[in-house]
Amino acid sequence: MLETLDIKITKVKASRLPQVDFDNLPFGRVFTDHMLVADYVDGQWQNFEIVPYGDISVSPAISSLHYGQSFFEGLKAYKHADGKVSVFRPDKNAVRFNKSAERMCMPTLPEEVFVKSIAALVDVERDWIPTREGYSLYIRPYMFATDRFLGVTPSETYKFMILTCPVGAYFSKNLNVKVETEFSRACEGGYGYAKAAGNYGGSMYPAKKALEQGYDQLIWTDAKNHEFIEEMGAANIAFVINNKVVTPSTRDSILNGVTRDSVLTLAKDFGYEVEERRVSVTEVLEAIQNGTCSDAFGAGTAATIAQIASITHEGKVYELPNPSASVFANKMRSTLDDLKCGRIEDARGWNYI
Ligand code: PMP
Repeated sequence: MLETLDIKITKVKASRLPQVDFDNLPFGRVFTDHMLVADYVDGQWQNFEIVPYGDISVSPAISSLHYGQSFFEGLKAYKHADGKVSVFRPDKNAVRFNKSAERMCMPTLPEEVFVKSIAALVDVERDWIPTREGYSLYIRPYMFATDRFLGVTPSETYKFMILTCPVGAYFSKNLNVKVETEFSRACEGGYGYAKAAGNYGGSMYPAKKALEQGYDQLIWTDAKNHEFIEEMGAANIAFVINNKVVTPSTRDSILNGVTRDSVLTLAKDFGYEVEERRVSVTEVLEAIQNGTCSDAFGAGTAATIAQIASITHEGKVYELPNPSASVFANKMRSTLDDLKCGRIEDARGWNYI
């Protein structure tokens, strides 16, 4: 499987797996036994190694700490009933990984090397992949600049790493969200389409304010006039309006989600018309008011489909009729779950076994 990529593997003496409490599994805090590390030095990727998970030592001057030359990916592995292990659409993450790399002036990684690095680590950690309903192994590939240099210029050396975390079922409470009309996540000409660390650091303040105001999440709008809907929290957003699936078209301020693409593809299979275009806040609020919006949801790797119960705009609350009974979102969630866990046919080969 890994003919072209030579990965040195050093395994732990004793696994920490028996100590893990799968009944209390906070997202992103429990790490598996191993991690993958590689270096970009002298213009080449080298030293691919799987080593015991642990702290790493870096210079306090590394430029990722000072100037944010750092980005990441997020995807999941699943264990099927027959014991097979699959990763969902890693080729899509590989493409996005390199888009982020280019935008941040960082080196790309051959897509095959990205996928095979993930496969090698997941293979070592296969016992860690939970089989409980809704559980999976979260995979976090990332890259950061390692030059010891305080000049504001692209680093010449980098580290590529992958961590993995067993994660539990996402709490599927329907969300009360607020349309953000003061702050922006990303802007035209910016780098919202990249999974750059800074996009997330900058989003925390508005998100914290929204939480303090009692909302679960916020809906990001365009940076110019806060007139058009872009994303929801760290997920894409879509609506079913007049029985059509409507979602903001991707642009430089929107992350092109793998879940988004999967939802739109499956929606067409279900017989729905799909519209990718600019979606105004007014259009959605009017559709909720006149009863033509049946579904509103976030789409992303963490939650798959996170349904919206209400949207507040400038203090006015717009409630979705009955999110728990929504036909489209529920069918989409269960289809995606079934597909990822091998319970239905994977006609498009989305599962990387
Ligand atoms: N938008 C943002 C800003 C995100 O961080 C994510 C999560 N990666 C998404 C959308 C959804 O992307 P995906 O479906 O690939 O997880």
